[in-house]
Amino acid sequence: MPSKGLSLIVGGGLAGNLMAWELHSRGHAFEMWSDGTPAASSVAAGMFNPVSFRRILPQWNARLFQAEARNVFQRIEKELNCSLWHDVPILRVFPDQAYAKLWNERAEPGAHEVSEFIECVAACDVPKGIKAPHGMGRVPEAGWVDVEAFVQKSIDAWNQMGLWRDQSWSLQDGCPIGFENVIDCRGVGATEDLAQFGLELRKNHGEVIRVAPDCDWGNETVNNVTWALPLSDGSYRVGSTYRWDVHEPMCLSETPSMLIEGVSQVRERAGNVELLEHKAGLRPSCFDRRPILGIVSDRYPFYHVCNGWGTRGVSIGPAMVRWVADMIWEGKTTPESVAPERFRTFTKN
Ligand SMILES: Cc1cc2nc3c(=O)[nH]c(=O)nc-3n(C[C@H](O)[C@H](O)[C@H](O)COP(=O)(O)OP(=O)(O)OC[C@H]3O[C@@H](n4cnc5c(N)ncnc54)[C@H](O)[C@@H]3O)c2cc1C
Repeated sequence: MPSKGLSLIVGGGLAGNLMAWELHSRGHAFEMWSDGTPAASSVAAGMFNPVSFRRILPQWNARLFQAEARNVFQRIEKELNCSLWHDVPILRVFPDQAYAKLWNERAEPGAHEVSEFIECVAACDVPKGIKAPHGMGRVPEAGWVDVEAFVQKSIDAWNQMGLWRDQSWSLQDGCPIGFENVIDCRGVGATEDLAQFGLELRKNHGEVIRVAPDCDWGNETVNNVTWALPLSDGSYRVGSTYRWDVHEPMCLSETPSMLIEGVSQVRERAGNVELLEHKAGLRPSCFDRRPILGIVSDRYPFYHVCNGWGTRGVSIGPAMVRWVADMIWEGKTTPESVAPERFRTFTKN
């Protein structure tokens, strides 16, 4: 079992900082290096939602992962003395009658594994101003984490402790002198290194905007595929886009009007909407929407991967960093669902 020497965490986004908090709470020494290349975490809406709306199913380990995420972020917000975790239910506007029927059947208590996460909304309870001809449902246990504040305040804290460096790293640098292991949290920055082992990290381009409408859009997230999330300052975050054909984190000029059009479709009157912010990023994703964790090569036993968090970094992240730490310090084996061996192209060279 490895001793508790100094760990190098590479990458200062959501994954790197959650990893740092995990090591901090276990009393393990670490340093974080990050080189300022664009991070998905500086774009993330930070939403958590235990339900996959496409097929009305629970997300992967939704109950356990989300409970752990809540505990972890609420502990960190106390340590950082700021507000990170925000409970905001989601109202899902049904696209058609077939979807409405399935939702309402599954919302019956005990009827389905998703039942515990979804509710029906009576026609008389549809908020004023929302157009929902086929009805809507509610997910009470949803919300968002202020990822930008989490990352910035965490980095400030590590910086003050002398644990943070503006420094690039790649696998060809090896394990730097003084460190016992390297934990790779570089998001899409790890694409080339992981490709050496037949592990394809896919870049999923996404954009979000922040807007100020001149009329009230309510205090719950309304989702009709496009969603509008109310923020504490009265503005709304609207998103997201998902594209595989754009490989740079660039803002596309047509996106704001497209997103505003999307949320306007379910409103009697969307009002005039002022665009406050427009951001783009690349989600680090895998073919099966599961992360890549653990050691990927016997030749580099110091090298541990914690990557591929895709669209759901906030809810799965705290459990993923715990799994990686358990592998390194408790000698636990990598769960099959996140092991590199599940890639047919994997070469453990
Ligand atoms: C538009 C959009 C909306 C999203 N919305 C949500 C959401 O609502 N909920 C949710 O849970 N997730 C959401 N996500 C996904 C979420 O952003 C990711 O799951 C998560 O941020 C990934 O974090 P990460 O730390 O792995 O990667 P990143 O945030 O990309 O961080 C990687 C870090 O590594 C650094 N780095 C890269 N290369 C090097 C190098 N060679 N040396 C040193 N440092 C390096 C970078 O500078 C960066 O700091 C969204 C993403 C996008 C793009």
